[in-house]
Amino acid sequence: MIKIEDLHKSYGKLEVLKGISTEVKQGEVVAIIGPSGSGKSTFLRCINMLEKPTGGHIWFKDQDITDKKTNIMKVRENVGMVFQHFYLFPHKTVLQNLTYAPMKVKKMSKEAAEKQGRELLQKVGLGDKEAVYPNRLSGGQKQRVAIARALAMNPEVILFDEPTSALDPEMVKEVLAVMKSLADSGMTMLIVTHEMGFAREVADRVLFLDGGLLVEDSAPAEFFSQPKSKRAQEFLEKVL
Ligand code: ADP
Ligand code: MG
Repeated sequence: MIKIEDLHKSYGKLEVLKGISTEVKQGEVVAIIGPSGSGKSTFLRCINMLEKPTGGHIWFKDQDITDKKTNIMKVRENVGMVFQHFYLFPHKTVLQNLTYAPMKVKKMSKEAAEKQGRELLQKVGLGDKEAVYPNRLSGGQKQRVAIARALAMNPEVILFDEPTSALDPEMVKEVLAVMKSLADSGMTMLIVTHEMGFAREVADRVLFLDGGLLVEDSAPAEFFSQPKSKRAQEFLEKVL
């Protein structure tokens, strides 16, 4: 579904991604792990072109999205994104957060968008919150709305950038549970996370980034029990 070839990204003289190549298959759940500053967010943001790569190629289903001629807005409709700090529309109700893009971008009717929105709120356990404004929600609830909002565009893949890092510990579980059910439903997911238990249990693969390089690309069982590189070993010793 996604093929990344020799991806480079620099900010001025700072080379953040130093040539990353990998592939993501349909239905795969890929955890992206690594120290702070290793380039995880930049990597994710390149995949939906929130950042423009300075070298290499990214194909999304046979379309080179780094090609100038590609309509990136069209590609982005199929790539959902969930951020650490939610970014809900504060002046819209929960349901309006879910209906806005489908109506605006996909020209869905209000009725259809609301029906879908309500179904998605049920799915993330927030069926009773449709009329509420985001500032009345807990962090965990906000993040579940953000996930439902991403799903409202019916994406083929969802990118998560530390979706639970801004949450109080007691709210982490409810968000991970929603993500696990999404994974079980066959959604293709790339997840930057520090939740090692979740990565080990739910991910099909672990990418370990360090210093802008993809140091390991392995199955979770292998990565967590016998990391190949010294850098991954040291990282795991610190976080586990
Ligand atoms: P991670 O998500 O792994 O913590 P990032 O991808 O956010 O790492 O950042 C990697 C490096 O790139 C860091 O040194 C960071 O300061 C730098 N960086 C990220 N975004 C920008 C930017 N917009 N301009 C300049 N430097 C940036
Ligand atoms: Mg980051």
